[in-house]
Amino acid sequence: MNSVQQQINSLREELNQHNHNYYVLDNATISDYDFDIKLKELEKLEAAHPEFFDPNSPTQRVGGEITKNFTTIVHKNRMYSLDNSYSKEDLLDWEKRLQKNLGREDLEYTCELKYDGASINLTYENGQFVKAVTRGDGFQGDEVTTNIRTIKSIPLVLKTDFVRDFEMRGEIILPLDGFRKMNEERVVNGEEEYRNPRNTASGSLKLQDSGEVAKRPLDCLLYQVVTNERKYKTHFESLDAARKAGFKVPNTITLANSIDKVFDFVNHWDQKRHDLPYETDGVVIKVNNLQQQEELGYTSKSPRWAIAYKFKAAQVSTILNEITYQVGRTGAITPVANLEPVQLAGTTVKRASLHNADQIEKLDIRINDTVFVEKGGEIIPKIIAVDFAKRPDYSQQTIYATHCPECDTALIRTEGDAKHYCPNTYGCAPQITGRIQHFISRKAMDIDGLGGETVDLLRKEGLIENYADLYDLRVEQVIPLERMAEKSAQNMIEGIEKSKEIPFEKVLFALGIRFVGETVAKKLAKHFKSIDNLMTADFETLISVDEIGDRIAESILEFSNDLGNIQLVNRLKSYGVQLQVSEEDLASQTDKLQSKVFVVSGVFHQMSRNELKKAIEDNGGKISSSISKKTDFIVAGDNMGPSKKTKAEDLGVAIISEQEFIEMIN
Ligand code: AMP
Ligand code: ZN
Repeated sequence: MNSVQQQINSLREELNQHNHNYYVLDNATISDYDFDIKLKELEKLEAAHPEFFDPNSPTQRVGGEITKNFTTIVHKNRMYSLDNSYSKEDLLDWEKRLQKNLGREDLEYTCELKYDGASINLTYENGQFVKAVTRGDGFQGDEVTTNIRTIKSIPLVLKTDFVRDFEMRGEIILPLDGFRKMNEERVVNGEEEYRNPRNTASGSLKLQDSGEVAKRPLDCLLYQVVTNERKYKTHFESLDAARKAGFKVPNTITLANSIDKVFDFVNHWDQKRHDLPYETDGVVIKVNNLQQQEELGYTSKSPRWAIAYKFKAAQVSTILNEITYQVGRTGAITPVANLEPVQLAGTTVKRASLHNADQIEKLDIRINDTVFVEKGGEIIPKIIAVDFAKRPDYSQQTIYATHCPECDTALIRTEGDAKHYCPNTYGCAPQITGRIQHFISRKAMDIDGLGGETVDLLRKEGLIENYADLYDLRVEQVIPLERMAEKSAQNMIEGIEKSKEIPFEKVLFALGIRFVGETVAKKLAKHFKSIDNLMTADFETLISVDEIGDRIAESILEFSNDLGNIQLVNRLKSYGVQLQVSEEDLASQTDKLQSKVFVVSGVFHQMSRNELKKAIEDNGGKISSSISKKTDFIVAGDNMGPSKKTKAEDLGVAIISEQEFIEMIN
């Protein structure tokens, strides 16, 4: 082995180990900074030596590949459902059936938590991750390999000798902490919050952009090894070995030699599950002996050797005292139920979301009603029903707010929208504050030293009324504010000054145009290149841009036609905020590949795969992960897969070399 290869291998091994320590063992052994340095070093070596490309290198976890259509794959081993049980009697009945089937009394069980997410089947060959497929209907699912590769707790290369070829089954979950953070950001961006971690996890698997998946704090908990090799005698042993090989197998798994013991486990976790960092909706009990599992086999739906025990969703009843209305940054109104405080699943519940007017009507919910509140998958408890028997005679039907609770403007509701809006965009306090808070947020202008509460304070003191006013602030105006020291005032002003370097695409996002999120802002910046071009574009021009539909176009027009906005933008311009794409970026961007669809395959010499992809996008081309009739070119490197080649030839898609591609853009 030559020394470069050795260097690459040892960096990969080292980074894999750090990943394992951090994401599986929850025990960091390197600073983020040092990790990044090593990762960059590896990236550089790999780019210079494409002959050592490896899809399982830690550099491949960042994602970026786009999948338009997920391939359907038939499972080698069917993914069954589980039978459910709800009481100790159910479990005792199950045990009787097992005893009868196996002809013996002394059985051993494993108890595991039932992780609440989306099931996944991971295939490994020779200790290497090969592919990941969703459960689908149990017989066949979708291949989501590129997305799954971005989940850092999933080992791509195994640490120890495990089984040679096997499938690993597990659950892709979104831990509660990560879920809350994602929602906080959505609120900042004026987007609707995700309802629950399970659906968000499962939706993440089918995102087209694996780079987006990489950004989500997904995790994978494993619960089953599927193999023909008989290396392990029990389920417990096989999971233990899997854990040693690098898989995240929760160590809540417990052995039990009777249903009584199983029930101890159930009772323990029924109480304690609310302290777990992720959601669980029950317990899964399995016969531990693998030989016995084989003897028991399957019904048409589920294994006979396993059963799920479902926890009852935590539920209480309480009284609805009041319905209040919250106004978001975009003016969207959310009704909130204010409840008589009540204990539920370890927390005191005082409020529950009512979502919108339709929801209130559907539940026929009224003030003073006794309502059932449930904390299931949702973080925010929800009201599932009204106890009509307890409804007081004097009760009156709820009339939805007609005016904004903050500025008293009449609310509007446009067709097709679930929510009511306050149209007083520029005069309604929470909208004004919300817009400034959005402007300074991390993904927008990222202004250090200025938080949401300070914005509130600055506004109340009359120092700012909009985001442009931030750039007029002086240190001496800020110092007298409550809880503001000289140092922090200085930091704040410096942070504002520094935001003038933030690139145009982020500034565009920061402006807070409705429906213009991060991705849309990027697209618009790339296409229009300056705020002037964007704000003078007409409807037709706007919708001709890829992925810009009527709704976004209308919102941009509304923004651009507003005199106040024109003034704000002009002021930002005069302060030196970036309202056009920088010279540097412009120089590297062309339309040479306008709307041409590229598939990139194989190993390259002059640029890394990622550089190649960036070059395609910078020049107006699009990237797809699979070859179809819509593909215009395949940039083929060394070792392009033979099946891709045949497919390209069949469809008559042009195959070009790296060199030819470079000539195309130069
Ligand atoms: P159900 O979808 O209700 O039929 O339950 C079966 C599903 O439970 C499986 O497809 C798994 O995705 C999931 N599951 C979660 N935790 C476990 C576990 N510890 N063992 C087996 N299956 C589990
Ligand atoms: Zn208002």
